[in-house]
Amino acid sequence: MTNHQILAGTQCIWAGEEEYLMQGATQVPVVHSVSYGYKDVDEWMQVALGQKAGHIYSRATNPTVHAFEEKIRQLEGAEAATSASTGMGIISSTLFALLSPGDRVVSVKDTYGGTNLIFTEFLPRFNIEVTLCDTTDHEAIENEVAKGCQVLYLESPTNPTVKVVDLARLAAAGSKAGAIVIADNTFATPINQKPLSLGVDLVLHSATKFLGGHADALGGVICGQKSLIKQIFHFREINGATLHPMAAYFLLRGMKTLHLRIRQQNESALNIARFLESHPAVGDVRYPGLTSDEGHRIAQQQMHGFGGMLGFTLKENSFDAVRRFLPRLRYAHAAANLGSVETIVGPPATTSHVECSAEERAAMGIPESLIRYSTGIEDVADLIADLKQALTIF
Ligand SMILES: *Cc1c(COP(=O)(O)O)cnc(C)c1O
Repeated sequence: MTNHQILAGTQCIWAGEEEYLMQGATQVPVVHSVSYGYKDVDEWMQVALGQKAGHIYSRATNPTVHAFEEKIRQLEGAEAATSASTGMGIISSTLFALLSPGDRVVSVKDTYGGTNLIFTEFLPRFNIEVTLCDTTDHEAIENEVAKGCQVLYLESPTNPTVKVVDLARLAAAGSKAGAIVIADNTFATPINQKPLSLGVDLVLHSATKFLGGHADALGGVICGQKSLIKQIFHFREINGATLHPMAAYFLLRGMKTLHLRIRQQNESALNIARFLESHPAVGDVRYPGLTSDEGHRIAQQQMHGFGGMLGFTLKENSFDAVRRFLPRLRYAHAAANLGSVETIVGPPATTSHVECSAEERAAMGIPESLIRYSTGIEDVADLIADLKQALTIF
């Protein structure tokens, strides 16, 4: 069996756990200990210097956190992984670990709102230049990358506009220019998309979303080459944005059903997108699984499933229409997160782009009536019936 490469569903259950199962336990323990004692000072020294496996202090490493990192590392097919307390914790740690004053970043306009603020508010303060391109203008991105940059930062599909970028094409452009190529894979998860296999150097997640899947734990994680992960780990160890072991346990447990949840969400979201597309009160529907979607062709090439996230606008394109519509949905939380077992809805103004002003959102091409719909695992007939009754006011 040693050469047999297990599939994702089996990895979700078994990967990363064995090392930490002790005294016959079948589940990874939550190790709350802040530090790890050594009777042998020489052994303590070896572990502290990284010459021997083990743990010293939980701000740096912790067994439960490590089991979580191992599970996602194997699912993404990476050499190494490290985590942080939140998705933003891993994104900011990564950018600040890899960039220096005078460096340049190329990215796209449609990244997650928090990421966008790192690009527009914080990196420039450290004399790091950031160029944000139109998200689906691949030629413009390639041209900017060719001018020289240290990091090419991508997200696909994007939050909340659900746009798709060609990861293989842009990873090739980034590598040619000598840039480190990073992809936020939160919306797709490794079940639907494996950016490392498309040539990306680092793949990251807000584990708060689909990986955990139950909206009860925050976390972030990044996977890639050992040398890069080591630099990011070192910065995160010092900035102190460490993943809590209890959160790591919730994420580990959530990930055991990742493949089942994603399979269901892929199927339900496509049905819902088709329903919305045919509804007279609905404007645009953005879902890469629809043949009418501008990202469909690329998504078909690089994704194994189109995901649980979709966006749609109302024909009555105003925030007031959203205000009246959302409370009518019975089987959807109106809330800021996504990727959970429950269906969750929200406009960008209160979710992904809460930090931005209405003018900034307009400049990013985010319509006032855009609704981000995170499909849960409820029976899809009930979700469609719920949308149908809620839309009767229009
Ligand atoms: C939520 C989200 C983040 C930020 O993650 P947190 O865990 O909330 O810090 C980053 N990227 C994407 C695509 C997200 O949806």
